[in-house]
Amino acid sequence: MKATLTVLGSGTSMGVPTIGCTCRVCTSTDPHDRRLRPSVLVEYGGRHVLIDTTPDFREQALRAGLRKLDAVLYTHGHADHILGLDDLRPLSFHSPGRVPLYVNHQTERTLRHTFHYFFDDENPYPSKAQVEIKHLHGSIELFGARFEPVPVLHGDEEIHGFRFGDAAYLTDMSEIPADSRAMLRGLDILIIDALRHKPHPTHSTVENSLRLVAELAPKRAFFTHISHDLAHAETNAALPPHVRLAHDGLKLEFEI
Ligand SMILES: [Zn+2]
Ligand SMILES: [Zn+2]
Repeated sequence: MKATLTVLGSGTSMGVPTIGCTCRVCTSTDPHDRRLRPSVLVEYGGRHVLIDTTPDFREQALRAGLRKLDAVLYTHGHADHILGLDDLRPLSFHSPGRVPLYVNHQTERTLRHTFHYFFDDENPYPSKAQVEIKHLHGSIELFGARFEPVPVLHGDEEIHGFRFGDAAYLTDMSEIPADSRAMLRGLDILIIDALRHKPHPTHSTVENSLRLVAELAPKRAFFTHISHDLAHAETNAALPPHVRLAHDGLKLEFEI
C-alpha cells in the first residue's frame, strides 16, 4: 500500500539553531538550516504512526496539520526523543481508545520514571494523555503494515530504528551490527543518522553513513540528526545525487 513519510525534525538533541550559538548555520537565513529535534510521521490507509515524541512535538504537529494519531513507536529514551509525550494530550483526547506507545523495557522504565504521574494507576492525574504502554518484542503489525525494530549501536548502548515496508528510519546510531544490516536490504528509502564530519562517540559521521549507504544500497538515502556543523545547501552539493540531507517538512512517498 502507498505510504507517506514526513520528516518532522532533522536536527540534533540541541536543535539547529542551537541556543546561544552564532555560527554561520545557526544564523543562516536558509529555512532548511532550521532543524527541530528528530522524528518522523508515517501515514498510510488513513492511519498516522509517529516515531518518537520530541520536545518540539507540539510545533511539529501544528506544522504538519496533524489531527489524529493512532500509535507511537519509540527508538529510545533520550530526552530529545521522549519529552513531547505530554503534548499527545489534545490528540489522545479525540482518540477512540488510548494511544498505544510501543517501547522496549529500557524505554518503558525511562517513560514511567520521567512521566510517573501519567502511569501511576493508584493516583492518576485526571487530564493526563490517554496513552498506554505496549511492549515491543520483535516486529509488530499496525493497521496492516509491519514495523520491524532494527537494533543499532548508539555509542555503547543498543537501541533500535525501524524498518517498515520499503523504508527504514535509523536515528541515533554510531554503527549498525551485521545482523541488522541484513534487515536493511532492498530499501527504497533509508533515513540514517549523520551528525557531522567530525567523529562523535554516539553518532555516525557523514563519511561513515556514506559507507553504510554504499553497502546497503537503498535507492534513496536521507541524513538526519544533523548538527550545526553541516550547512544544508553546501553539504548537499558535495553528496552523491541519491543521498540528501533531510530537512524538516520533507515528505517522501513509498510502499509499506
Ligand atoms: Zn537523539
Ligand atoms: Zn540518543
